[in-house]
Amino acid sequence: MAFWKSTRALLGRVRWFSLIILISTPALSLYGLRTTPLRVQTLLWVNVFAALTFTALSHVPGITAGYHRLWSHRSYKASRPLQYLLILMGASAVQGSVYWWARGHRSHHRYTDTPLDPYNAKRGLLYSHIGWMLVRPAVRPGHADVSDLRNNDIVQWQHRWYFAIIAVVGFGLPVAVAGLGWGDWAGGFYYAAMMRITLAHHVSGSVDFSDRDAHYLGETPFDDRKSAKDHFISALLTMGEGYHNFHHQFPMDYRNATKWYQYDPTKWFIAACAALGLASHLRTFPENEISKSELTMELKKFKKVQDDIRWPPGLEELPVVSWETFQRQAEERPLVIVSGFIHDVGEFVERHPGGEKLLLKKVGKDATAAFCGGVYDHSNAAHNLLAMMRVGILLGGVEHVKTVSPGETLRIVERMF
Ligand SMILES: [Zn+2]
Ligand SMILES: [Zn+2]
Repeated sequence: MAFWKSTRALLGRVRWFSLIILISTPALSLYGLRTTPLRVQTLLWVNVFAALTFTALSHVPGITAGYHRLWSHRSYKASRPLQYLLILMGASAVQGSVYWWARGHRSHHRYTDTPLDPYNAKRGLLYSHIGWMLVRPAVRPGHADVSDLRNNDIVQWQHRWYFAIIAVVGFGLPVAVAGLGWGDWAGGFYYAAMMRITLAHHVSGSVDFSDRDAHYLGETPFDDRKSAKDHFISALLTMGEGYHNFHHQFPMDYRNATKWYQYDPTKWFIAACAALGLASHLRTFPENEISKSELTMELKKFKKVQDDIRWPPGLEELPVVSWETFQRQAEERPLVIVSGFIHDVGEFVERHPGGEKLLLKKVGKDATAAFCGGVYDHSNAAHNLLAMMRVGILLGGVEHVKTVSPGETLRIVERMF
């Protein structure tokens, strides 16, 4: 009984239209591959059209610059002609209307990695790659404000006429161009329509491209608390959307990658539109804050290295010893003072590069001047090594501590507030 109940509940949540599209398009493209020869003109057309619609095979972004960076994140302003172009390109990738898509995407950013995240990476790669599109989540996606999109007449127009638009732009147009242009109706249908849509769904990382997949592969140079990652390969497949760790930190930035050598053609496309007067108000996050996030993660990495290294005892761990006690104890073991610290050099004497004699001459004495240039100006490594031999602090000598070992002066300290 319980099994039937849960199956019925699951069936009730299936998005049938998406299921049919996701099964029929690859099936028909495979059938086409076996039965219809691929003509050169059709191949070129598939590429040009794919480029215009979802960008995975080439460079112009309908989903990435339109659905994602413009409507989901308002990272720039687009003129009406550009909005129409992007919204038609986006529709023909058959990934839902902008209105629906952007709402889910905003919840994803707001509730990343939680059950309210419609593409929660914690539910597994298959779910976040394609499953989320087939089955409505049992929990409704978390609330996201879409009032701006409700008031955008172009977005509302596409939402209302979505199925008609995909019929014309997603299927009719690609078939008609190949059919009327060079008489290849079948090729147009199988390749320009079916195969292109299949690729749009899978190569570009299922529906919203990298987003889901970009939570699996790569590095976290800006923040490691969320699953979003940066990876060149995802960037390559998704016109730059793979720099996803950056994107989750700075979602209103029209760029997903800031360095010149990083592959972000969507950014170049938006910048080119701005140069042509089609886009304006390109938003960027302050460089200073970007560097800060990056540095934080670098320091975190170094902190890990630092934690795996043994460090000299700190001031609070050492006994404070009077000059007389120091003198007395120095008769039993080789103790030397440098910079207010008492060091037991017993195990090191033999290995002293300047010779045993020079070092033993300083036992029971203050060797600060000799150590710091009077006899020989010791290296950073020597300062660090000496610090490891600390056994005490000379009473009244701490004020003279000037040469803390270099490894200690640059130490990364985690402050608890
Ligand atoms: Zn994401
Ligand atoms: Zn986003």
